[in-house]
Amino acid sequence: MLFQPRTDEMLFVLAQVLRGPQRLQALAPFGEVDAELIGQLVEEAGKFVASVIAPLNRSGDEHGVRLVAGQVSTPPGFRAAYQAFWQAGWPALAAATEDGGQGLPAVLEAMLFEMLSAANHGWTMAPDLLHGAYDCIKHHGTDELKARYLPKLASGEWLATMCLTEAQAGSDLGLVRTRAVAQPDGSYQLSGSKIFISGGEHDLSDNIVHLVLARLPDSAPGPKGLSLFLVPKFMPDGARSAVHCEHIEEKMGLHGSATCVMRFDAATSWIIGEPGRGLNAMFVMMNSARLHVALQGIGLLEAAWQKADAYARERRQMRAPGRTAAQAAPAADGSRLPDLIGEHPAMRRILDSQRAWIDAGRVIAYHTALELDIARHHPDSARRAAAQRWCSLTTPVLKAAFTHQAFHGGSDCLQVFGGHGYVRESGIEQHVRDARVTMIYEGSNEIQAIDLLVRKVLPDGAQAFDLWLDALRAELAPQQAADARLLARLDRLQAATARLLQATARNDTLAYWVAEDFLRAVALTLLDWAWCQIAATSAGGSPRWQAPAQALEHWIMPELSMRLAIIDTQAACERAAETP
Ligand SMILES: Cc1cc2nc3c(=O)[nH]c(=O)nc-3n(C[C@H](O)[C@H](O)[C@H](O)COP(=O)(O)OP(=O)(O)OC[C@H]3O[C@@H](n4cnc5c(N)ncnc54)[C@H](O)[C@@H]3O)c2cc1C
Repeated sequence: MLFQPRTDEMLFVLAQVLRGPQRLQALAPFGEVDAELIGQLVEEAGKFVASVIAPLNRSGDEHGVRLVAGQVSTPPGFRAAYQAFWQAGWPALAAATEDGGQGLPAVLEAMLFEMLSAANHGWTMAPDLLHGAYDCIKHHGTDELKARYLPKLASGEWLATMCLTEAQAGSDLGLVRTRAVAQPDGSYQLSGSKIFISGGEHDLSDNIVHLVLARLPDSAPGPKGLSLFLVPKFMPDGARSAVHCEHIEEKMGLHGSATCVMRFDAATSWIIGEPGRGLNAMFVMMNSARLHVALQGIGLLEAAWQKADAYARERRQMRAPGRTAAQAAPAADGSRLPDLIGEHPAMRRILDSQRAWIDAGRVIAYHTALELDIARHHPDSARRAAAQRWCSLTTPVLKAAFTHQAFHGGSDCLQVFGGHGYVRESGIEQHVRDARVTMIYEGSNEIQAIDLLVRKVLPDGAQAFDLWLDALRAELAPQQAADARLLARLDRLQAATARLLQATARNDTLAYWVAEDFLRAVALTLLDWAWCQIAATSAGGSPRWQAPAQALEHWIMPELSMRLAIIDTQAACERAAETP
């Protein structure tokens, strides 16, 4: 069964739940972006994804990528699909018109990449970093670099990589050893080895633009001494540059994506941004790259859910509790058939709970994509600051919570198939294998939790977080029972945060012990908020939306009390957990 984009449901979230078209039209660059245009684009994207990208998912997984004499070949059909993709203008959606892009809102790109990831995560790894690289050069590149690279990256004719990780430098980029030495002509010679580089080498595009973190000879140790460089696979004069793929990893999943060890041998490069400010330049990519990984999670969970839902509607086993033989479907011989798997409470609970995560995930992710554009284009500086705050606090939560759910919820969807899920034929095991890495890359989920609590919530005494909570409250209607319940939950979260803040003043390791609990608590309140937004629409009461809303309340939200209890118990201790 191939993944089928449900564009009507995606558009419902954007237009009805979030009033996206109205919000966008209030921003100067998007005055013409109405519901009709959005609808047409999303429908067209859905057709392209379903007809060109989804059919390559299984064969891409089975064939995998190959490295022969330094050249990586991608699975059959991948290059043709990529050429069709960029020539149809899909990578250019959100790039600026002056660079040849279409100047459309980030949320459209987000919806496109959610569908692509659901259809074929391995293939989608190649264009996924494109827009981040484009943004990075646009904000920090010299005019010469912009002129040379922005149009090709905006169109997607050339692809890009992000080369951060080294064997000894994973989460801790301060340990990066790759060196860059200035040359008289203003370029740099870059030498070192990077590992785990997605799309470091492939045959999808005619050139690859590597963005590489490296250290200048006189730089300070640690992350502050890092600078960012651009190294093309092919130089402006067409010569091959001194960057090579030495090895590609054998992986648990994502077989259609080449994960490369890249060697730079005094490769000619150019600096992006100020010396020593490389991580700063990279951070331009971070919010949008992390949002894209969250969308991978939402897409992969949707793909797994579609398969499990279809299976649960055809597989029959036993009589489901609460159902009588008279209610069961008749067999050809007049007897009664066993009930459908989807009628058994344990399976219904799995399916409705994953649906609750996916639908809420779309509300939160699309809202965040809208806020990215508001942060850039709103005429009011206070509104821009509020949007920036939303993106900064919500993005790590989205990334960690929805990648966690893609793997764990995807595994629950596999459970719906019983043994048939564990064998290759059903196709669902690929989603589970592919999803696992999303919890690790683009800042592991542990790093996201620390980013949220230790770097963003605690340092200003939770002031920004309190404003963020107020932004959630502002969109609730206390007379609605569900909204009133959420308001009480937001108060509990705020109170627990205040107690945690006091306790961390006495114990400087406490925050690290409970960072995951804090992120989960925030994720759950966001989920609840998203469902209150859905309930406020006219469709909120229909069975399609009611079942997952109930699953949220029955099976998902109880975790909030557990997480807050862990935080409170640790905050009340003289010492948090036992120091290792
Ligand atoms: C398929 C794939 C594709 C990738 N693509 C790219 C790419 O395109 N470009 C690129 O540069 N990199 C890429 N990576 C690398 C990826 O970003 C790193 O694997 C990731 O940052 C984690 O680094 P590490 O593997 O060295 O783990 P480590 O940093 O060694 O971490 C090991 C474990 O310890 C935890 N940990 C580490 N530090 C802390 C801390 N301070 N507090 C709490 N827990 C901590 C981590 O969360 C993790 O669970 C890719 C990796 C994979 C597997």
